[in-house]
Amino acid sequence: MTAVTVTIDQFWPAFLDRVRTKVRRQQFETWFGHLGPKLVGPDQLVIRAPNQFIESWLKDNYLETIGDVAESLLGSRPRVEFVLDPSLAPELKAESESVTTAELARRQGFRLNEHYTFDNFVVGPTNRIPHAACLAIAESPGRTYNPLFLHGSVGLGKSHLLQATCHALLGRFPKYRIRYLSCEQFVNEFISAIQRNELFVFRERYRHVDALMIDDIQFLGRAERSQEEFFHTFNALYNSQKQIVLTSDVSPSDVSGLEERLASRFKSGLVSRLDPPHYETRVAILRKKAELRGIELPAEVIQFVAARITSNIRELEGAIIKISGHASLTNEKPGLELAKKALHEPTDVSRSVTIEDILKVTSDFFGVRVADLQSKKRHKSIAFPRQVCMHLARSLTNHSLEEIGGYFGGRDHTTVLYADTKIRDQAKADEQLQRTLGRITTELQRISAS
Ligand code: ADP
Ligand code: MG
Repeated sequence: MTAVTVTIDQFWPAFLDRVRTKVRRQQFETWFGHLGPKLVGPDQLVIRAPNQFIESWLKDNYLETIGDVAESLLGSRPRVEFVLDPSLAPELKAESESVTTAELARRQGFRLNEHYTFDNFVVGPTNRIPHAACLAIAESPGRTYNPLFLHGSVGLGKSHLLQATCHALLGRFPKYRIRYLSCEQFVNEFISAIQRNELFVFRERYRHVDALMIDDIQFLGRAERSQEEFFHTFNALYNSQKQIVLTSDVSPSDVSGLEERLASRFKSGLVSRLDPPHYETRVAILRKKAELRGIELPAEVIQFVAARITSNIRELEGAIIKISGHASLTNEKPGLELAKKALHEPTDVSRSVTIEDILKVTSDFFGVRVADLQSKKRHKSIAFPRQVCMHLARSLTNHSLEEIGGYFGGRDHTTVLYADTKIRDQAKADEQLQRTLGRITTELQRISAS
């Protein structure tokens, strides 16, 4: 095929169409959905990316796909480059510029936490599906998943996602009528409506809305008469294709005391579970929370907290607050020692991770042999994992530089120091490497704790 000349305007839509056939939909949306064209020629393709993260992810994972697709369109393989363009970042704004979605909610009589938005929600493997389902609902309520039933244990982001859906809906449709409340509130209102003989008013309130969002629906299991009422409310809304989203700490079948007919209604749409986040996601959440609170925390403190607190995101946030509170009280910098003090951790933990553990886990991770890591071989595929090992040995064990050098084919202390600094510096700018280090560290902690 000979090289063809196309303008970027001709090229770009065709390019995206072909990429779409090669990557899965969710991934397309995440990584290609917010890119923009810059310029194209037979030997160069420049793409605008909304942020560094998307750029480096594309470079690490999709460079070949991008090259293949471009080549299939251009007849020659261009060099692929990226430029940053933050204006491409996805954003959900209230249509009426000056009014926030939290204010729109307040006018409808309910409260939203202004921080519980999709923008502030960190997506990872354990919450990807619930997150995607909520996004889909915000796009086309009542049509995609109805009802949506989110469940998961405490502090995993159920209320956050529910409120983010409300923010997004109000952002897109400011007049959208939403009832958002806790199940407890629903039950209390129902009881007082009965006492005041105002059942009619109560029904009006819940049946003439565009969306009903009830948090912690497991509470309904304890309220027999409210179940009957809720059953009718549910059916009325469902039959007129109004969106219903429910959250619970357990799955529909496990809500104790819940009538079978309700449980089966709850199961009839999409039931999606949130699980505790992995290490990488915890790190990302901590960064996000620190940023929102305007707190600056060194990477080692973030990693320390992410490694300690594993099952509840609210506690992760609590830890940051404690550490920054401690820092401002004592006027110290929020470093690792202070973090340990603030979280009441012994500050002189004798580390139980060994260099043998590090060698084993790292070699598994990179698919190289332990013997090679300890050899004099200099090939990059071995030298890099070896440097990672040296860095981990420096940060997770108490061995001296000389001792560490001894484990790796008798290298001297400057080599170890160089490796440690290099990996540390590289990790600052390279998210992929941060994730790798995070995964290996989590695994090492698991081994040393067992
Ligand atoms: P649940 O309702 O499941 O008990 P919440 O929605 O109240 O949990 O979440 C607890 C805290 O954790 C909130 O401050 C929320 O913002 C935060 N949180 C949970 N998941 C995430 C996430 N994926 N990204 C950012 N923050 C999160
Ligand atoms: Mg909640």
